[in-house]
Amino acid sequence: MTNFEDAIRNVPDFPIKGIQFKDITTLIGNPEKFANAVDYLYGPFREMEIDKIAGIESRGFIFGAALAYKLNVGFVPIRKPGKLPAKTYSAEYQLEYGSDSLEIHTDAVAEGEKVLLIDDLLATGGTAAAACELVERCGGEVIGLAFLIELDFLQGRQKLKGYRIESLVHYSGE
Ligand code: AMP
Repeated sequence: MTNFEDAIRNVPDFPIKGIQFKDITTLIGNPEKFANAVDYLYGPFREMEIDKIAGIESRGFIFGAALAYKLNVGFVPIRKPGKLPAKTYSAEYQLEYGSDSLEIHTDAVAEGEKVLLIDDLLATGGTAAAACELVERCGGEVIGLAFLIELDFLQGRQKLKGYRIESLVHYSGE
């Protein structure tokens, strides 16, 4: 398997002191790594029926949109507040650094559609849990969540019990 860890840049104290920011711009700047990352992201879900890919703003858009194109399915943007123009559902969540909320268009996912959620990184799990809530409020079924990076020590999986989660790169500590 491709070594993705080497392509991820660790930026200490960003955006605030004490956070080791995992910078994926170095990975997506490398065409081979980027393509492999998109392929590997849905690998575990290959046999499953997928109707839509939902990506979480903003880095989830990069991988999610590429994957939606590859699978020939629709892409659903889950965005920061005030960005989506039509009627939305909103869900609040806690970040590793602060709190925020996410929004989805109420008609972005149809009743019963099977959705694979994509983001670059799973930390405490608040963001992903809010995204699952939004897809389900639309009537969709979250068939799984795929991340490039998982910070195992923050135990984000605890907030996502019952969902299938796959991550390409695991960090056991900062
Ligand atoms: P969380 O809700 O704590 O799981 O945070 C996940 C979201 O915050 C993802 O959208 C990440 O892009 C971003 N994020 C959180 N911590 C980091 C980190 N250490 N490095 C890069 N992005 C992060």
